[in-house]
Amino acid sequence: MNALYDIHDPEYKRIKYEIFEKDSFKCQSCGMGAPVVTLQLIRIQDTLQNDKWLDTAFLSTSCKICEKKKSGADEKNMQNVFMSIDELEERLQQLKMLINWRKGMLNIRKQQLNKIIIYWEHKIAGFETSNAQKKYLAAYISKYSCDEIQSAMDMAIDKFIKYDDDGNLDQSSILTAFSKIPEICQTKTEIINAHESDGLQRIHNQLKQTINGFFDPNRASQWLNYARSWEVPIDDLFKMASSVKSWTEFSIQVDKMVEKQKYILSRGRADHTFTII
Ligand SMILES: [Zn+2]
Repeated sequence: MNALYDIHDPEYKRIKYEIFEKDSFKCQSCGMGAPVVTLQLIRIQDTLQNDKWLDTAFLSTSCKICEKKKSGADEKNMQNVFMSIDELEERLQQLKMLINWRKGMLNIRKQQLNKIIIYWEHKIAGFETSNAQKKYLAAYISKYSCDEIQSAMDMAIDKFIKYDDDGNLDQSSILTAFSKIPEICQTKTEIINAHESDGLQRIHNQLKQTINGFFDPNRASQWLNYARSWEVPIDDLFKMASSVKSWTEFSIQVDKMVEKQKYILSRGRADHTFTII
């Protein structure tokens, strides 16, 4: 598959940024990221009869090497390809995007870290989070959401905080509770993951029953995972799976649900917009 669009088109740049950001600036085939490889947008679905090239529901991130491999070029040929001016420009553009994205991520993480530190200090009056403890929490910001960490904090407090006979907070139990936060996050994530795969299985089985004619189980899974990556609620997907009659209708419905969800998410994220170069 070739690059889709004129790289100088601002609309193309905007969409490219959106998809690269969703994929964390990594090729979805080999996992290599910018700026080590040059990334490009590819279409992942070509079953729908629409001519909207830039329909984001069907776009993904790939690197040029993987795309060339798919199109059958051999390794030896690929090494001898000189970069064109367009490709150099493209790489520069991607580098700028990447720097911008990382800056944005860093700011968000700082804000999130502050939020959970304030939460903890508010819960345990008089507790002052040390720099070492801040670092300890910072390591989990990229792994878990603020909500997950905060609810783990609540659980840690319920379970591990102790009082002495005079009713004073046992200082060492505070540290124990603090140290248990990541473990609780991890356990909760495992439970949620199990629930997630149960839910998807249920939807999958439902689809197999309701859809007449053509049904591709692997692609159905891909589409459902795709919808879930945009946080389309499991219940909504199940309802949809119970009502669609055909594969085409299923694909259109998933697309619609993702578009709706993107709109909802974009409103939620409006407080930290990225500048597109
Ligand atoms: Zn790749």
